[in-house]
Amino acid sequence: MDPQIPGTLYVVATPIGNRGDITLRAIETLRAVAWIAAEDTRHSRPLLTHLGIATPLVALHEHNEAAAAGGLVERLCQGEAGALISDAGTPLVSDPGYRLVAAAREAGVRVTPLPGPCAAIAALSVAGLPSDRFVFEGFLPSKPGARRARLAELAAEPRTLIFYEAPHRLLGTLGDMRTAFGDARAAVLARELTKHFETVLDAPLAELVQRVADDSDQQRGECVLLVAGNADPAAAREAEGRRLYDLLRTELPPSRAARLAARYTGASRKTLYG
Ligand code: SAM
Repeated sequence: MDPQIPGTLYVVATPIGNRGDITLRAIETLRAVAWIAAEDTRHSRPLLTHLGIATPLVALHEHNEAAAAGGLVERLCQGEAGALISDAGTPLVSDPGYRLVAAAREAGVRVTPLPGPCAAIAALSVAGLPSDRFVFEGFLPSKPGARRARLAELAAEPRTLIFYEAPHRLLGTLGDMRTAFGDARAAVLARELTKHFETVLDAPLAELVQRVADDSDQQRGECVLLVAGNADPAAAREAEGRRLYDLLRTELPPSRAARLAARYTGASRKTLYG
């Protein structure tokens, strides 16, 4: 096992459900460092107690990170070793920590990862969708209008898409995905990974929406949504170009509407307005 190096910030992944998924290096490091910066100290304390770790916790969440990062970097510069954890999974992945890591690196502090669970990667590893290239989109905007706009922008994306979603928004988001990507696009809902009620459903979007609507259990717990990339991105770009052209055409001369729609969507201007 590695000796802890003074003045180092360890970025430590913690379990996303099953406590057995903590690594041996994580346990040893969390025990040895001077402090652990945690997103929610009340949430992390039970895990640390379970592991027999009594290291002092410091709160580092999205509301205090900008202010707290400076003091922690100072302590690292004075030679203390510290660790960063989040409530679950890998810090910085839809979780706080980016400012602390950036500030530490800026100050010349050694920052080293202790890799482990991440819901996006765990879901990808069992989804059965192409995994050679993928896009992590994190959480979609919570407002329906902004969410639909973001999904429309992603309709032509050829790589597998990975989203995090809150259970109460799941059905609405799946419906919007069906509209943006079409009934037939392959999708996977990975729920409660590593936990007792883990399920991984794969189906075309139209069927997946129906299965989730029919089974309220599928609308509970934590989930990752994955959608296959567009197999024909050129056609999707043309369709998006046509949609935008029709919209702009109500306000602008056809040639100008076509130029703008083509520039924005990547569709061919000639196809829109020959
Ligand atoms: N940093 C974490 C990681 O590495 O995955 C993600 C934190 S983000 C605030 C929490 C989101 O991750 C949840 O809303 C859910 O979308 C996803 N997630 C976390 N744990 C999960 C699990 N056990 N099963 C499915 N999704 C999970």
